[in-house]
Amino acid sequence: MTATALWDDLIAGEELAHLTREPAREPRTAAIPAGLRPELVAALDRLGIERLYAHQAEAYEAARGGGTVIVTTGTASGKTLAFNLPVLDALAADPHSRALYLYPTKALAQDQARTLAGLAVPGVRAAIYDGDTPTEQRRQIRGWANLILTNPDMLHIGVLPRHDLWGDVLHNLRYVVVDEAHVYRGVFGSHVANVLRRLRRLAGIYGAEPQFLLASATIANPGELARALTGLDAAVVGDDAAPRAERTIALWNPPLVDAELGLRASALGEASRLLAGLVGRGLRTICFAKSRKSAELIHRFASDRLDAATAARLAPYRAGYTPQQRREIERRLVEGELLGVTSTDALELGIDIGELDCAISVGFPGTVASLRQQWGRAGRRAHGLAVLVASEDALDQYFMREPETLLGRRVEAAILDHANPRVLDGHVAAAAFEAPVDEGDAAILGAEALARAPHVPELRRTPRGWVWAGRDSPAARVPLRSTSPDAFTVIDASTGALLGLAELERAYSTVHEGAVYLHLGRQYLVRELDLQARRAIVEPFSGDWYTQVKKETSTDVEEPLRVERRLGLELSFGRVSVTERVVAYQRKAVVDGATLATVPLDLPPTTFDTEAVWFVPRPHQLEGLEAMPLLLSSLHAAEHSLIALLPLWAMCDRWDIGGLSTNLHQDTGAPTVFVYDGHAGGVGIAERGFEQFEGWVGDTVRMLEGCPCENGCPSCVQSPKCGNLNELLDKGGALTLLRRMLA
Ligand SMILES: [Zn+2]
Ligand SMILES: [Zn+2]
Repeated sequence: MTATALWDDLIAGEELAHLTREPAREPRTAAIPAGLRPELVAALDRLGIERLYAHQAEAYEAARGGGTVIVTTGTASGKTLAFNLPVLDALAADPHSRALYLYPTKALAQDQARTLAGLAVPGVRAAIYDGDTPTEQRRQIRGWANLILTNPDMLHIGVLPRHDLWGDVLHNLRYVVVDEAHVYRGVFGSHVANVLRRLRRLAGIYGAEPQFLLASATIANPGELARALTGLDAAVVGDDAAPRAERTIALWNPPLVDAELGLRASALGEASRLLAGLVGRGLRTICFAKSRKSAELIHRFASDRLDAATAARLAPYRAGYTPQQRREIERRLVEGELLGVTSTDALELGIDIGELDCAISVGFPGTVASLRQQWGRAGRRAHGLAVLVASEDALDQYFMREPETLLGRRVEAAILDHANPRVLDGHVAAAAFEAPVDEGDAAILGAEALARAPHVPELRRTPRGWVWAGRDSPAARVPLRSTSPDAFTVIDASTGALLGLAELERAYSTVHEGAVYLHLGRQYLVRELDLQARRAIVEPFSGDWYTQVKKETSTDVEEPLRVERRLGLELSFGRVSVTERVVAYQRKAVVDGATLATVPLDLPPTTFDTEAVWFVPRPHQLEGLEAMPLLLSSLHAAEHSLIALLPLWAMCDRWDIGGLSTNLHQDTGAPTVFVYDGHAGGVGIAERGFEQFEGWVGDTVRMLEGCPCENGCPSCVQSPKCGNLNELLDKGGALTLLRRMLA
């Protein structure tokens, strides 16, 4: 209660867009299951656990029942114990049984390994097997460990193709745990879904049928996600019974400085003011920003507002710290030596800092699940404060005006498409390398996989089925985070390290010469883009600008797959090909988005196939808007605002979506708006938009109606990724058209 008084005077004023309290919640508990092995009961006893939360007991029972289970409860609700209990129980009961735990990052696998060591259940031998595991230890781990922690990449490249070395593990594989399952969505999720199907098939060949236990942040479609990832129906355990401290939630909107243009004060400035205010009151606070540059600026501005002694108790928390350095910062924070930390949101998954008083998110992190994860740091045991400081982005501003959209029950659906041919083909080849693929495999790999087999080069049909005729292991050619095997590599010239991959279809817009490239919240400047070697050479960059490209885009309709009469017009979903040519880029100031320079580029066009949703407005819906350039400006503004709101329906980033609007399209013969999936082949984003079209357009109209600007601004119709640099946008025309569709 005292904490409340401490921030009350700070969290007030015109910037406060919404204030609410989530009440404390009492736990609902259940007895420790009667059938649990005594070793486990003893381990729980050592940890002081006398009763379980109801959802943990429910997950245990569901797992004991034998089927696939997905647990989706909140941050710090004991999800880990929910899947550890049945697994450890089985391992303690049968010394031959094996379990595989999959984590999206090495750091998370290490955290889980520590948790398991803390349980110290006799008979459980856990070990991490990832890219860092020394070769000489690998054989020993395969033979000795009965609980192996790894990641999907290692499973894909290191385990499945070498299944002969893993025969004993596969033969005895009893459980597969997929933690942080919501991370497996989009392109990455589509790949992981295929890796898990390959695992199921190989386990079957070795005579095992492992049971899958998944855990996910709260999402709209846990059962659907579990099924998409594993191919199996799953029981959903989602009724969170963990206790929760009272939490105050504040939505904070930087003040309008120019209402007509829709310009607001800087979110970084507001965040630093709040951070300094909270730390100055002795409250332990973490502040999440979207880039390292932003985190650094917030740190600097907040320090400037404080006396030297207090400023010394602020620290940035960065990617690139060694685990020891990170643990040191975490320790200082937990012990109260540090009061404030600024971090990039890329680190939210790996951070281990126990309870803090306050959490500030600067800019909506892209999904409600991430936002909740960040807010979950505040007030785990005592009353906490969670704040979202809005950026000028359309979605942020929409939330400020419609807080229930954010705070209500609706969360995004995690979507993926394992059957995307661009993703699937590599896994069909990998599966054929692992063991010949025949019709009998359709049950696990999917009928689509068999249908693709004749199209995969280097697969040969034999009496045993499709076999791999190439020389190398095909899995090594298939990166799990990209839809194009021939992606560009991004190399840090200062260290020689491979930072990541840029998909071919996006390389020219993200790593062209002179681009500012963001990786894990750090900034790099692209020094050189080598088209032949498919390589971008970058160097660390600390300038105060970012870059945005100007490009020419065209789309061709390849094949409509679904056409329906919706909202008074013909709505289509289908396959399109998108051609883009990047012609220039602009340097823009981080502080206010002002254009500093425009630089022409000479790059070849790129074409990729993907999925799109598109519509042709009816003449009466365009009445009064027919004149050029009003027609084009209205369609263009409608396209941008639709793209801004689609992430509310499909769990993705607006950078995963592309669009095109034209007053006359060659395939439809009429004015047309396209919204397409930015990943080659598509991962389900456009289809989700097709299915949810009415709700999606409804949100978009409410967003446009609510924006206080006069003629369009960054918070409604302007887009940070517009290939036309936000020229030709008519907010009024877009609103007229979309309203008529809803009428
Ligand atoms: Zn606006
Ligand atoms: Zn545009």
